[in-house]
Amino acid sequence: MNFISTRGGERATGAEAIVRGIAKDGGLFVPEVFPEVSEEELVRMLAMDYPERASLVLHKYLDEYEENELLAALKEAYAKFDDGDPAPLVKVENGMYMLELFHGPTCAFKDMALTVLPYLLRKGCDILGIKEQILILVATSGDTGKAALEGFKDADGVKIMVFYPDDGVSKMQKLQMCTQDGENVNVVAVKGNFDDCQTGVKKIFKSEACVSKLLEKGVRLSSANSINFGRLAPQIAYYFSAYLDLVSSEQITMGDKVDFTVPTGNFGNILAAYYAKQMGLPVGKLVCASNKNNVLTDFFTNGRYDSKRPFYRTMSPSMDILVSSNLERLIFELSGRDGAVTAQRMKKLSTDGRYEISASEMKNLSQEFYAGFTSEDDTIECMYEFFTEYGYPMDTHTGVAMNVAVQYSDKMQDEFGAEVHPMVVVSTASPYKFPQDVLYALTGNDVKDSFKGIKRINLLTAMKVPESLKALRYKTLRFKASVSADKMFDEVLKFI
Ligand SMILES: *Cc1c(COP(=O)(O)O)cnc(C)c1O
Repeated sequence: MNFISTRGGERATGAEAIVRGIAKDGGLFVPEVFPEVSEEELVRMLAMDYPERASLVLHKYLDEYEENELLAALKEAYAKFDDGDPAPLVKVENGMYMLELFHGPTCAFKDMALTVLPYLLRKGCDILGIKEQILILVATSGDTGKAALEGFKDADGVKIMVFYPDDGVSKMQKLQMCTQDGENVNVVAVKGNFDDCQTGVKKIFKSEACVSKLLEKGVRLSSANSINFGRLAPQIAYYFSAYLDLVSSEQITMGDKVDFTVPTGNFGNILAAYYAKQMGLPVGKLVCASNKNNVLTDFFTNGRYDSKRPFYRTMSPSMDILVSSNLERLIFELSGRDGAVTAQRMKKLSTDGRYEISASEMKNLSQEFYAGFTSEDDTIECMYEFFTEYGYPMDTHTGVAMNVAVQYSDKMQDEFGAEVHPMVVVSTASPYKFPQDVLYALTGNDVKDSFKGIKRINLLTAMKVPESLKALRYKTLRFKASVSADKMFDEVLKFI
């Protein structure tokens, strides 16, 4: 399968798309066509375990990767998760399910892809005959950084450097990153918000001066951010798996449509659901949930993307994003895969901070997606209600998604004759990853310390505390550097 850039022209193989991360023209790599999964294949997948299902989906895109080896890598990656099943589906009530993606090494859904990406990248380099050392640069709003560090620590021929916004991540996320072990890792705080971090990293990738300076030193850049197709591909698999689990447990019959609600930041997770739908998975609506940073809600409602607005820090920091990079892939599809139009819009976004789509594109968009957002108070209320009513504790990001899922379902019930599908809400982090906010939501109590929060939630919910979070308390802080955004490349040069 070949890949093309969203900004026209440039082509790449799967291995090239993954190793390079981003096209030379600044565009994102997308498959030349969407591979299909037939109903007969779906039936066959019912009997498969998670790695087998994922292997079938991934191999359709990455056909130059040897299938048995890919399967072995997926088995190894998902063996790092609790309990055998990396993506369990939990029924909350009739027609309402949670897809739990937080049972990996760092307790957030980023592990689903970042435990697999090191293999995809290393093998990609082998396929392409690349001998240089690889340097992974990551901009993180909190969860990607830790998951990438865990995934790549002590990997051969790879170094990894993570930039996070100094005041834009939770205490637990910061602690997770700054205590990271591994000889090949570095973590640096950037003064600013996530968008400043992301822009800084993108600048390094785009700068020929930076890239050639690194090549002189035998170092080649690659990215582990969600714009890398190697991040997107493993995420497509869990939408298939969730659907198949609903069929297996006789909640639906094969062919029935299912809706998904996804707590959204950089638009990677929900885009994977859209890709699954393009491949033939019977998906109804995709519900895009945002927090107070509701740039996507506005876009999906009026067709205007406008990043020029106040930035809010919320208790769902992984969604505090005003420029959702992966949206470019959706814009490309909406435009009828027009690279020139997409390039123009992205240019407008970077110069004016805004762009808009046409009325007919808007119509197509609203057929596929519904978007909503919540306030902090309503998120807390929703988390409290679901715990009180169903005994189900959820993290703050999932709380945002649940609130919007309920908004959507209320709206459907008001609409006469609307077709109602079962709803799967994607649960992206363990409640223990944001313990103070979660405890506050469930009980109204404030605790000063994250570990006290963990203990209290454990007493309240009897939910098992992930070992990796417990262990954090006794680890030493390794990384303390904090720089301004224009000094990021200097830090890179110091590190290599
Ligand atoms: C990254 C993240 C999100 C947002 O996912 P995107 O793919 O960036 O839209 C939501 N919740 C949590 C817990 C995350 O870590």
